[in-house]
Amino acid sequence: MRSIDHFIDGRRVPGTSGRHSDVFDPNSGQVQAHVALASAAELDRAVQSAVIAQRDWAKVNPQRRARVMFEFKRLLEVHMDELAALLSSEHGKVHSDSRGDIQRGLEVIEFACGIPHLLKGEYTQGAGPGIDVYSMRQPLGVVAGITPFNFPAMIPMWMFGPAIACGNAFILKPSERDPSVPVRLAELMIEAGLPEGVLNVVHGDKDVVEAILKHPQIRAVSFVGSSDIAQSVYALGAQHGKRVQCMGGAKNHGIVLPDADLDQAVADILGAAYGSAGERCMALPVVVPVGEATAQALREKLVAQIPGLRVGVSSDPQAQFGPVVTAAHRARIKQYIQMGVDEGAELVIDGRGFSLPGHEDGFFLGPSLFDRVTDSMATWREEIFGPVLQIVRADSFEQALALPSQHQYGNGVAIFTRNGDAAREFAEQVEVGMVGINVPIPVPVAYHSFGGWKRSGFGDLNQYGQDGVRFFTRTKTVTQRWPRGGAVADQSFVIPTMR
Ligand code: NAD
Repeated sequence: MRSIDHFIDGRRVPGTSGRHSDVFDPNSGQVQAHVALASAAELDRAVQSAVIAQRDWAKVNPQRRARVMFEFKRLLEVHMDELAALLSSEHGKVHSDSRGDIQRGLEVIEFACGIPHLLKGEYTQGAGPGIDVYSMRQPLGVVAGITPFNFPAMIPMWMFGPAIACGNAFILKPSERDPSVPVRLAELMIEAGLPEGVLNVVHGDKDVVEAILKHPQIRAVSFVGSSDIAQSVYALGAQHGKRVQCMGGAKNHGIVLPDADLDQAVADILGAAYGSAGERCMALPVVVPVGEATAQALREKLVAQIPGLRVGVSSDPQAQFGPVVTAAHRARIKQYIQMGVDEGAELVIDGRGFSLPGHEDGFFLGPSLFDRVTDSMATWREEIFGPVLQIVRADSFEQALALPSQHQYGNGVAIFTRNGDAAREFAEQVEVGMVGINVPIPVPVAYHSFGGWKRSGFGDLNQYGQDGVRFFTRTKTVTQRWPRGGAVADQSFVIPTMR
């Protein structure tokens, strides 16, 4: 059986803990590799390598650090198809979607190429007599990222791109379910000119996450994953004195007002609900038509189009979505579908019986559609993370606005309308971190930043953009005086002021 090694000090290093986890091919349902699960001692080896490498890396001027990022971006483009095929083979998403996963990470690397400009500090001349004040952003040292299975290229790059450009060394703990692409990314960073030890990949589960959170030489931890784990990672990291940001789960709503371009809205909702088999934190698994007529028309169009969606193996260029990541995850999604039936929602289309001829053991599920879901149901409150779309009917704009606002998650939301006034009001009032107006998946571009509200995000800084630079640096402020003539100032025992 192939084994997937850690990547420490610029090379692949086999695990020594004796523990490993299975990596499946979701298309065939077979175990295709074992990934090593690190012990605390193996993590420490990576941290010691990072500590040494970071001292020199921080001294490399930002322009030279940017050159590594430029070269890495070029290598990502050269290796795009190879990386996408590797990604699909462990995750199950279709090839075009895997390319999108890499492309969105690449855009953060492009942003990080601007690091000389982004790290320019602030300066005030003449803040007092002969006094100037300046501030600079300095790297933290060794920092870590813990990432989920669903974007094994993009999310690691959200984190290590800004962190490394800022002069830190980085320990990446990717998902144990699709760990190969993160290792390839680290190899390409070395090929791009990054010194060995600045980026290390350590595989593992809960045990190594805890070791990261307790390690005294790791200064900051960025986490993306499900909310309960995000919250516990946030608490444990903070308890150990670290800077922590944790992005959690989601349940995003798409509001359809009566004046929306319904054909366009349906096309957008289908892609956002079922793309990547619904395994996206910015998926749109809830649609909220406003008014009976909108609900009826929307339902008819969905029912007409959903059976025509093509579910296939991830290498099928015609497939719109592939299998889910593991058999265990598929079983969980099926349980949620049953729970929806039991709590009284109307299961209009049931994808549970789907089987792909020739791939009967793959982790496939067909698209499911529920209507008449209400806000009292557990299947509305909880994240399903599968190809399941729920219609929650609303009588009014106010009721539609309240649904995502009152939800425990607040990651993304979309509104479909031709009414600028209503859209503006919605964007201003809704209690959600990222809003799309006629945009179904409003993942902000790389030079803004990504983050949800409520149980979708713990900590106050977002991923990438300016917030990424802020998270991975600390501010030092210098107040300097160069007195002329050597006259001795009077002694003063009160706090200095700039009157
Ligand atoms: P997960 O929470 O199971 O795993 C995330 C990471 O935590 C992995 O690296 C995993 O190894 C580690 N982990 C697992 N169990 C742990 C434990 N008990 N203690 C400490 N660490 C543990 O998430 P997942 O299933 O890989 O990813 C899907 C989830 O991530 C969904 O909830 C999705 O909404 C969320 N997500 C959120 C965002 C966002 O930006 N808000 C983006 C992508 C995914």
